[in-house]
Amino acid sequence: MRQPSKTASPIRLTVLGATGSVGQSTLDLIARTPDDFEIVALTAQCNADELATLAIRHRARVAVIGDDAHYQALKERLAGTGIIAMSGRDSLVAAAQIPVDCVMAAIVGVAGLAPTLAATQQGCRIALANKECLVSAGPMFMRAVRDHGATLLPVDSEHSGVLQALSAHSPDMLDKITITASGGPFRTWNVTRIAAANPEDALKHPNWVMGRKITIDSATLMNKGLELIEAQHLFGVTPDQLDVLVHPQSVIHALVSYKDGSVLAQMASPDMRTPIALALAWPQRMAAPTKPLDLAEIGALTFERPDETKFPALRIAKAAMRMGEGATTALNAANEVAVDAFLAKRLKFPHIAQIAEQTIESLLRGGSLKEPHNLETALALDQEARNQAQDHLAAL
Ligand code: NDP
Repeated sequence: MRQPSKTASPIRLTVLGATGSVGQSTLDLIARTPDDFEIVALTAQCNADELATLAIRHRARVAVIGDDAHYQALKERLAGTGIIAMSGRDSLVAAAQIPVDCVMAAIVGVAGLAPTLAATQQGCRIALANKECLVSAGPMFMRAVRDHGATLLPVDSEHSGVLQALSAHSPDMLDKITITASGGPFRTWNVTRIAAANPEDALKHPNWVMGRKITIDSATLMNKGLELIEAQHLFGVTPDQLDVLVHPQSVIHALVSYKDGSVLAQMASPDMRTPIALALAWPQRMAAPTKPLDLAEIGALTFERPDETKFPALRIAKAAMRMGEGATTALNAANEVAVDAFLAKRLKFPHIAQIAEQTIESLLRGGSLKEPHNLETALALDQEARNQAQDHLAAL
């Protein structure tokens, strides 16, 4: 249990994406040691009712709803509470700029880029769940982190595992970073069965309960590809130093191999509150109410190589990582469009990877794949890729 000194001030925290899976897990942890944290701002996109409930429960100063259509509902729910209600994309950015010690970046998708980038500019600690920031605009985002003296801590369980296994070792002795994948709900399915999978099948993740977009990304293994790109930027390693291992039990989250032959693995029960707790309490630790890891009960840990024929999204994401120069921006945008379309039953499961690949290829042919150097160029390329992805979708 973390033992803050009696005189230590509470950690001032803003949660971007408070109503989501990571946002709620974060607030669940905080509710257990409320004296250690002061909630400054909470944000959501549409869910005004839940946002208001959370803002009142955690005594937030500000609550921001991204979609203006839900502002009135938020304002009415917060009337008389003293909590300031705001709405719109600019207000999400403004919320991220309110001075705090830590911002939990848990918006889903590239929608999180502008607010998370704004948070880095105040030089605070960023607990980064929103991996799409690094996939869309990795070099530019990391430059902002460095330029403003922000501390970037991963919330993804695999990257949190890497961070812990990397501690106190000389970087030149690092050989390889391996992140694990559960393999998703279709690990044991054949190609024909996968081709007919519907959203209900894909949303049944074997080990984790998460938001809909990342759950589909886990089923295609695109999530693992996005995580490789995230790791490349977070840890400053080359694509050759990154690997994926399928590990269906989701107990080992990452392995770091050193040139002397040692391999350090980080283990924990699959519960996001463990990596979230580390990012919130860093460089200390705080207790998380997770199931203790009982290896005797689990019995066996198994490993397989990922099958990139069955799950081409991983191959496509790896190729985009090697290509760089805006290819990962396009990959992310096309994937977001395709996942939305799959959830709306407008395309079949294998089309998700196909749309991502076609979008990268068409932008490459058109000479549009240039590394984004600022927010505007990142969002412009993202939009161009979305348009292309919609064209490919229409042509299916
Ligand atoms: P959810 O879909 O559960 O939650 C997303 C949050 O973002 C909600 O608060 C939602 O508000 C808000 N939001 C959605 N769209 C927008 C938008 N356009 N502008 C502003 N806010 C928006 O997602 P998760 O919590 O699962 O994932 C969040 C991020 O964390 C993702 O990048 C994911 O990859 C990453 N991550 C998630 C893990 C998990 O276990 N869930 C594990 C590791 C990483 P509203 O509720 O109103 O729609």
